[in-house]
Amino acid sequence: SLSERLERSFKILKGEGKITEVNVADALKDVRKALIAADVNYKVAKTFIDSVKQKAMGMNVLTAVRPKEMMIKVVHDELAILMGGEAQPINLQGRPAIILMSGLQGSGKTTMSGKLAYMLKKDKKQHKPLLVACDVYRPAAIDQLKVLGDQLEVPVYSEEGNKNPVEIALNAVQHAKAKGNDIVIVDTAGRLAVDEEMMDEIENLKKSLNPSETLFVVDAMTGQDAVNTAKEFNERIDFDGVVLTKLDGDTRGGAALSIRTVVDKPIKFVGIGEKMDALNVFHPQRMADRILGMGDVVSLVERAQQAIDEKEAEELERKLRKNKFDFEDFLNQIQTIKKMGNIKDLVSMIPGVGKAVKDVDIDDNAFKSVEAIIRSMTPKERKEPSLLANQSRKIRIAKGSGTTIQEVNRLIKQFDDMRKMMKQMNAMDKKGMMGKMKA
Ligand code: GDP
Ligand code: MG
Repeated sequence: SLSERLERSFKILKGEGKITEVNVADALKDVRKALIAADVNYKVAKTFIDSVKQKAMGMNVLTAVRPKEMMIKVVHDELAILMGGEAQPINLQGRPAIILMSGLQGSGKTTMSGKLAYMLKKDKKQHKPLLVACDVYRPAAIDQLKVLGDQLEVPVYSEEGNKNPVEIALNAVQHAKAKGNDIVIVDTAGRLAVDEEMMDEIENLKKSLNPSETLFVVDAMTGQDAVNTAKEFNERIDFDGVVLTKLDGDTRGGAALSIRTVVDKPIKFVGIGEKMDALNVFHPQRMADRILGMGDVVSLVERAQQAIDEKEAEELERKLRKNKFDFEDFLNQIQTIKKMGNIKDLVSMIPGVGKAVKDVDIDDNAFKSVEAIIRSMTPKERKEPSLLANQSRKIRIAKGSGTTIQEVNRLIKQFDDMRKMMKQMNAMDKKGMMGKMKA
């Protein structure tokens, strides 16, 4: 996986405080492969990689997170920026406001029309949408919309026998005004591929309706083709936003990035299922997660950044190196972890681990007795753990912390083991550094 490859690329970086050109280049090679595998257009991927390189170089790596994770965050943020940064609302100006749906046959226009009607109806503003059936070529298409309308209790406007979609749509607007519908959603006909007749028709609809929002609906599963179709529609009708459907499939959603870059229009909604509530507002941040397929490393890094004071972290590292880590530091570490939030949440954000711990009971109070024990030590005992060899001190601490002498012993043993491990790691690190200096 990409995550593993990045891990490998950054092995060499361990112990270094900065991201350097060599390891950035290596890691980004893998990111580029992942993007292309996720259906991101080749040129888009290249431009993207270049900009990430610029941003990442020379960045300070937080001591508390691994450089690999830091790098993922850079890639992720850049992806999100490219896809628009924030979720973009639809324009509902006008009385009624008109939303025009466009896109190929099967892209999900009719389904999305229903979903939008449902969303707007449920909205706090209590909109009264009207659905309009302008797919005049297939009688089944009109029925499909009527069924949805019945199910959602949203009125559907259609004209039996009228083959002129512009006429129908204009009549529907008058109908909406008379009936007090504040939003008109115009579902249109698509074709299996882009053709002149369809383009003329949607262009005419747009010109005569002057919609406040023209949405281009595209099936995310179609990958690179989605980008080409988006380009052709945009050149003809200059749409306002994109709806990416069928993201509930196993597609990685790279089309989102390509479309955004190639046509420079925001993606506003995503379809994530056939049911009427399977509609999400598009969140660039979440889509970036999906394209990278990395679990929620990003939130992990963000929370670590918030919780860990870098100065504090440097001081801690200095102590670790000198093997001066004591119970006082241990207590501070526990505080830091607590600041980062719910322990189960944190652990479940680690890619590959998330699913595994889902059903495991991780007790947020796991540190409670440890904390109590340390707090029952005198400051001197915390600084000089060797004093704790004394049995009467242990008994006093157990009593003071409401624990048992076994629990106190266990903590002391864990602490000793930890120090031993740190000593070994320090020794290895020094050898590593000598190696590098020779090279
Ligand atoms: P239209 O020809 O553009 O109007 O497309 P439809 O709305 O009729 O959708 C075509 C097919 O895709 C239908 O079977 C829908 O149920 C299905 N569909 C639409 N949106 C989604 C989605 O977000 N997820 C899934 N899984 N299926 C969808
Ligand atoms: Mg349809």
